[in-house]
Amino acid sequence: AHLARIEAVDEKVHAFLHVDREGALAQARAVDEKRARGEKLGPLAGVPLALKDIFTTRGVPTTVGSKMLEGWIPPYDATLVTKLRAADVVILGKTNMDEFAMGSSTENSAYGPTGNPWDLTRIPGGSGGGSSAALAAYEAPLAIGTDTGGSIRQPAAVTGTVGVKPTYGAVSRYGMVAFSSSLDQGGPCARTVLDAALLHEAIAGHDPLDSTSIDLPVPPVVEAARNGSVAGMRVGVVKQFRGEGYQAGVMQRFDESVELLKSLGAEIVEVDCPSFDLALSAYYLIAPSECSSNLARFDGLRYGLRAGDDGTRSAEDVTALTREAGFGPEVKRRIILGTYALSSGYYDAWFGSAQKVRTLITREFERAFEQVDVIVSPTTPTTAFPIGERADDPMAMYLADLCTIPTNLAGNAAMSLPCGLAPEDGLPVGLQIIAPALKDDRLYKVGAAVE
Ligand code: GLN
Repeated sequence: AHLARIEAVDEKVHAFLHVDREGALAQARAVDEKRARGEKLGPLAGVPLALKDIFTTRGVPTTVGSKMLEGWIPPYDATLVTKLRAADVVILGKTNMDEFAMGSSTENSAYGPTGNPWDLTRIPGGSGGGSSAALAAYEAPLAIGTDTGGSIRQPAAVTGTVGVKPTYGAVSRYGMVAFSSSLDQGGPCARTVLDAALLHEAIAGHDPLDSTSIDLPVPPVVEAARNGSVAGMRVGVVKQFRGEGYQAGVMQRFDESVELLKSLGAEIVEVDCPSFDLALSAYYLIAPSECSSNLARFDGLRYGLRAGDDGTRSAEDVTALTREAGFGPEVKRRIILGTYALSSGYYDAWFGSAQKVRTLITREFERAFEQVDVIVSPTTPTTAFPIGERADDPMAMYLADLCTIPTNLAGNAAMSLPCGLAPEDGLPVGLQIIAPALKDDRLYKVGAAVE
């Protein structure tokens, strides 16, 4: 049914870069056979899923939305994919994304933009716009995203779906193409809080192949999602997450959500996090710096594209020509920014300062979580904007992640879930819930209460 739905609507939505029809049907048949033999089935047996094209899949193309990896077929599965297979999930295919997960609209994909199913002339968010659009268009009931600065939560917000960035280290990064390794985190996307929890439980857990993977039990997210409640909880509202740049209808729905939390028995506490105002600046130094280092491996020799190798050129020239042809403008912008911020003489002023801001933000979260159990905010300052509107204005594009970035810098957990439509444009608004590191279950407890 989902493959038929994809066939019917994906020409318009363009959520998928690759539909693995044969693979999906084979997995579905394998589940049926297991059932017929009376074997124990995985917890998500037979449930179809859309996978962001940033995870390596053995035998199935993985492009990361870039020409650099066009035609590359990985020889191995990401740990997350191995876990999905163990849960008996049926992987429908790979979803569209901003190139190397850099962007907030999916317009930076080398393979063309994805439409927001609510209004195909608008962006579905990014970088994981394909995964969230697939959910909103009913092309898949579950999806996987990755969140470096908001790429799970912001697409969830603007498509009226649920998305969770787990605590950093909760989901293995092995086989997840690296953008900014200290920030990148895979996570679940779904249409309900409980569905997200079931997927969260299936993909989280320690992985010896990822040195930053957390070696602790997965928090009880499913139990929390089944027992939603905020009674007696203290809920923080950050002073800095409001003001100029926030759409009126977004703030209206957010304020109503705060009223709802109060009526359900939560106590609302204002928290002051002054360094959050610097989060965007710090992120746009740290993420490009790490990306400039991570993307050095795309040298035209190891994977995918190789340009200008006609037997007359040096390896260095082939690398330069490959990178010129293979990377899009946003990726190049970030590599240039990052190499500059890391260069000797500028390192302390740029990268060093950004790291200090990161520490301040982490401390302000810690102080806030001494007073409150969770923090809430709008997920993103505006609803889905028209495709093209911010494409030539990187600064305007970067603002989409104003509320999501602090969580990545601190490494704690956050969810976005729908909280109604903005009255002025009828488009979905996302409520963000933020929890301390390792307390991911609180997201689901609160999310299930207000869903
Ligand atoms: N929009 C942010 C960026 O462009 C976040 C991307 C992400 O989370 N992968 O870097």
